[in-house]
Amino acid sequence: MVNQEWGFKENKDLHAAANFTIRNILEAIMGNIDETQTGKQMVHLGHGDPSIYPCFRTSTIVEDALVESVRSANFNCYPAGVGIHPARRAIAEYLSKDLPYKLSSDDVFLTAGANHGIEVVLTLLGRPGANILFPRPNYPIYEARASFSPLEVRHFDLLPDKGWEVDLDGVKALADHNTVAIVLINPGNPCGNVFTFDHMKKIAETARDLGILVIADEVYAHQVFGDKPFIPMGVLGDIAPVMTLGSLSKRWIVPGWRFGWIALTDPTGILQETGIASSLKSCLTITADPPTVIQGAISSVIKKTPDSFFININKLLKESADLFYERIKEIPLLTCPHKPEGSMFAMVKLNLSAFNDVVDDTDFCMKLAKEETMVLFPGNAVCLKNWVRVSFATDPAVLEDAIGRLKQFCLRHAKP
Ligand SMILES: *Cc1c(COP(=O)(O)O)cnc(C)c1O
Repeated sequence: MVNQEWGFKENKDLHAAANFTIRNILEAIMGNIDETQTGKQMVHLGHGDPSIYPCFRTSTIVEDALVESVRSANFNCYPAGVGIHPARRAIAEYLSKDLPYKLSSDDVFLTAGANHGIEVVLTLLGRPGANILFPRPNYPIYEARASFSPLEVRHFDLLPDKGWEVDLDGVKALADHNTVAIVLINPGNPCGNVFTFDHMKKIAETARDLGILVIADEVYAHQVFGDKPFIPMGVLGDIAPVMTLGSLSKRWIVPGWRFGWIALTDPTGILQETGIASSLKSCLTITADPPTVIQGAISSVIKKTPDSFFININKLLKESADLFYERIKEIPLLTCPHKPEGSMFAMVKLNLSAFNDVVDDTDFCMKLAKEETMVLFPGNAVCLKNWVRVSFATDPAVLEDAIGRLKQFCLRHAKP
């Protein structure tokens, strides 16, 4: 027998980062679910994937586009590193409709979903000593990915009493000459908020004054159903350069397709000048691509999906958001400070002092899973302890049932 020590070993940093992802946290909560014990069917309001509900099924036009792409046999090849040209052009045209200037296909880079876009952007911005500004609460993949980059993470607050607007004074206080970028998610995950033009302008001006890039995560673009319209951050690209992350996952309800993009909305050419645009290209050349068959379908998906599909999805989301917001008021142990106006989520505060035997948000989610066969996402995992994130993107009957269970649970655990 050869007596040797292996040159490789378990990477504990990887576990630490993965533990922080939505998937892993949900897995831990799901460990408490036992349908046979409670006799109740599981209700999952823990993530933003309504694709399992028939009412949220994607358009047949979208499905047909993929079938045609496969059948054409034109897309069995390797794609170009930054994506095939017709797909890039279709996305450039799609995004340009909402911008005061035209994007070209060279401004668009295809990714295997927005999560891949996050990985790419954090990789190319990472250098020792640099720091990046993330919102609190945040979409947790950002923290998980940043832990593998030399970037130091600094959190600014989103303010619940101001409709989850950015605490701009906080941003200014956090930033220094080593700050590279600020991340914004609009429409918001996890808060379900939508930024106004005036507020976005202030954010852009702050970024310009600080000399930093704006990373605009717009995977919920156009998924708005309150009073505020969706305005892409790229509209303000002449104030500060913007990298926009987009995706098919949420608007087209096909998260399993793994298709997204990074768009440079930079009319003044700062990203070219600083070389960040060319680093982006290099970065994409050495990472995974979205499958070529998906890229081959994109032009049809973008051009042919009828408006009626999007209108219907927003109508469903609005009905669910209204139902959720009204019914949650019946539970005095919970507070939802802001009615969701976009995306698929709302943040709900646990009034812990009113609970008898719930110590924190994780405990709440674990006990809720065990007793009510129901999944919510603990706020701790989106950097806001003792809140929970609720996805209301479900069938209305399922949501009604879920709120009923939530109420029963809270009443059972309330102080007398
Ligand atoms: C879902 C989500 C993503 C990831 O989108 P994919 O395209 O499925 O990778 C990125 N950012 C936010 C804010 C999300 O909610």
